[in-house]
Amino acid sequence: MERRPLLAGNWKMHTTVAEAEDLARAIIQSQIPADRDVLLAPPFTALSAVGKVISGSAVLLGAQNVCWEEKGAFTGDISPTMLKDVGCSMAIIGHSERRQIFGESDAMINKRVAGAMQHGLTPILCIGETLDERETDQTFRVLEEQVRNGLAGIVLGSGKKIIVAYEPVWAIGTGKTASVGQAQEVHLFVRELLATMYEKNIASEIRILYGGSVNPDNVDDLMGQDDVDGALVGGAALKADSFGRIINFNK
Ligand code: PEP
Repeated sequence: MERRPLLAGNWKMHTTVAEAEDLARAIIQSQIPADRDVLLAPPFTALSAVGKVISGSAVLLGAQNVCWEEKGAFTGDISPTMLKDVGCSMAIIGHSERRQIFGESDAMINKRVAGAMQHGLTPILCIGETLDERETDQTFRVLEEQVRNGLAGIVLGSGKKIIVAYEPVWAIGTGKTASVGQAQEVHLFVRELLATMYEKNIASEIRILYGGSVNPDNVDDLMGQDDVDGALVGGAALKADSFGRIINFNK
């Protein structure tokens, strides 16, 4: 099954509007091969401005989170319709920083996934084990729980799509990357799990991204793995030259 690679930049809580515009401008100037998707996920304050910079290019706009409700008393959150309004097509959900720093539970993440899909945003559901969980052999149990709970009640197929991002918590922002073997092992596990939850052909279409200190030096090896369908990139997405190289990974 050919899955179209997706290279996504998660800018986290970085960039003023002017910095975001400059970075987006520089990224769309890099050569982007036609056989892959590129997504930029700037902070909420810069979504509209970045959306304008990338309009007319092939680059996609994504949000770093999304609420399940369209509007109302949800101070500090942002609605799927607001994100669609500024041109977002995807939303990162369940990032480990949301889980760990802001206490987002699987149940809340599940509501976010459902809300995004209901409004036509493709969720990028992030999952990942901590170092302690890996060292105590709980990786697969934890990932299975996050996938099952995050996707509880979610129907896929007939145009309803999700993306999964495997981001081992110990590899995020630490400079430590999962080995290609560790990444492939988990991605295959997740795909097989998805095949038990959905149909096999649906599972084989789901893009599973790897995230955790992806950089210009390791992207080619990671992308060379059968079940690694893209990358969710933090630090290295904040510089146009390194993200440009990541976008141009060699297969
Ligand atoms: C991330 O936050 O999604 C991430 C993978 O960060 P980094 O690339 O900096 O490890």
